[in-house]
Amino acid sequence: MKKGVILIVGGAGYIGSHANKALSKKGYKTVVFDNLSRGHKEFVKWGKFFKGDLANKKQLEACFKKYPIKAVMHFSAFAYVGESVEEPAKYYINNVANTLNLLEVMRAHNVKHFIFSSTGAIYGEPVKIPINEKHPQNPINPYGRTKKVIEDILEDYSNAYGLKYTALRYFNVAGCDPDYEIGEMHNPEMHLIPLILDAAIGKRKNIKIFGTDDKTPDGSCIRDYIHVSDLADAHIKALEYLFKGGKSDCFNLGNGKGFSVKEVIEMAKKITGRKIRVIETKRRAGDPAVLIGTSAKAKKILGWKPQFNRLSSILETAWNWHIKMCK
Ligand code: UDP
Repeated sequence: MKKGVILIVGGAGYIGSHANKALSKKGYKTVVFDNLSRGHKEFVKWGKFFKGDLANKKQLEACFKKYPIKAVMHFSAFAYVGESVEEPAKYYINNVANTLNLLEVMRAHNVKHFIFSSTGAIYGEPVKIPINEKHPQNPINPYGRTKKVIEDILEDYSNAYGLKYTALRYFNVAGCDPDYEIGEMHNPEMHLIPLILDAAIGKRKNIKIFGTDDKTPDGSCIRDYIHVSDLADAHIKALEYLFKGGKSDCFNLGNGKGFSVKEVIEMAKKITGRKIRVIETKRRAGDPAVLIGTSAKAKKILGWKPQFNRLSSILETAWNWHIKMCK
């Protein structure tokens, strides 16, 4: 076992639980801090669990007093673009104000290492594809703006207080643990791939395509899909990079390939062998037409190598999990 504890804030959620598994497999002691508002207790299969809310500083204090925390991974945020447009206050309070609480308690306890879940949505409409980390940041929805605010804060804290952080800018996370111990389970579900699979399995009547008049070859939005276990692995690489003295920095995490909503649906039809009813509907506010990132920097500096670099293999793990859940 490695010394010190890694605190996983939001570790009962989709990505956090995959990070917990990956850390535990590597011999790290973990504590999951989660209020279970969107996470699942049954996903905390490794390490310890501390039920707490980031809005409640006393609970955070109690957790930091209880465990010798060496580093924090922060997954706890609202992450639905559409919802963020409709309810921005909810996003600024949870994603910004509550993250500040966490950073304050970290400062009080002299915890210096921080891995932050950021997003490709920080860039807004791309002016150049694939997007690298130097691309201008003009987020076009409140979700992306909340992440940008925190990245700016992290830079200032790093300069002033010696905080060592990495901001990991995820593109579209999908798939699940290939051992099927944990997976994606949101309520309500709003992400494309699980919604398509719901339609394939008959839990939903159809899948709606949000917009077919974009300036893309088939008119639907293009996204870069990355497997959640590859993402979890990048978190460990980022943590170890900081432990070895790496400087605070940001990294894109994606596969560098774009698939339109229509292409994802076609691929899902092949993988599932099911009929999927499709309805074309209007664009969703706040959606950039294309988001494809290059992760060359993470590969070079962190030594990260994604294993699932085909959309079909990402969809396969998502589908197997979906079948297991719906049994
Ligand atoms: N999308 C869609 N129908 C849905 C859900 C999503 O057409 O029911 C589209 C959405 O407009 C975006 C892409 O699928 O272009 C991925 O959306 P998701 O919500 O999964 O992730 P986001 O890119 O918003 O983070």
